[in-house]
Amino acid sequence: MMDYDQNPFIVIWELTRACQLNCLHCRAEAQYHRDPHELTFQEGKKLIDDIFAMNHPLLVFTGGDPLMRPDLFALAEYAIEKGAGRRAKNTKIIGTSFIKKLSLSGKEQSLKNV
Ligand code: SF4
Repeated sequence: MMDYDQNPFIVIWELTRACQLNCLHCRAEAQYHRDPHELTFQEGKKLIDDIFAMNHPLLVFTGGDPLMRPDLFALAEYAIEKGAGRRAKNTKIIGTSFIKKLSLSGKEQSLKNV
């Protein structure tokens, strides 16, 4: 039986609290600008290493708006190199160019524009 205290089924990483919207109901308490204490790209890669050193849990990038991080695609590609599958879902600002960029290479994919 899997010990989820040692190997979680899912890891949800709030990449940033930054978001261009300001929804009253926001669970992430989003703000317009990125927090200077966010993980750096190198720290993010180390986190991904640590996550995939466990039993390859489902990794979710969320925020805020993950697209507010210029290194989002680099982090996603790094996670894909580690074995992550790809799914994308967002609100209004996601577009076909984003979908195409994520679907250029790789194995499993389920991309949905909502
Ligand atoms: S992160 Fe989501 S809920 Fe929060 S302000 Fe942005 S769009 Fe709204």
